[in-house]
Amino acid sequence: MKKQIELLRELEELDLMLKDLSSPQYKKIGFKTSKQSLDIMHIIERRRQKLKKKIDPKLLAEYERIVKRYGARVLVQAVKEFCGGCYVKLPAEFATRRASELLICPNCGRFLYWVS
Ligand SMILES: [Zn+2]
Repeated sequence: MKKQIELLRELEELDLMLKDLSSPQYKKIGFKTSKQSLDIMHIIERRRQKLKKKIDPKLLAEYERIVKRYGARVLVQAVKEFCGGCYVKLPAEFATRRASELLICPNCGRFLYWVS
């Protein structure tokens, strides 16, 4: 089974795609809302619904809360010991806890992930 953080990242990516497809900028850069873009929106929406079922409801509620608050960037990459969302220094114990826990920035409340 995939880790919850990976599922949340997938969910955020799908949300960004949907946001992109319906944004005025998307049309401005020359893409027209065509039947294809409606088709892909339906496909993304279906995938999103399926994905949501695999995510812990508590985490999902937290995810929705952060989306409402910040609009995007629900999951942020931690850069060394700093939060990549609000740039504050994270508690020192996160370095050891990150291997086994899904951590949330104590300052901005976003989900954190590490790439190295
Ligand atoms: Zn933060």
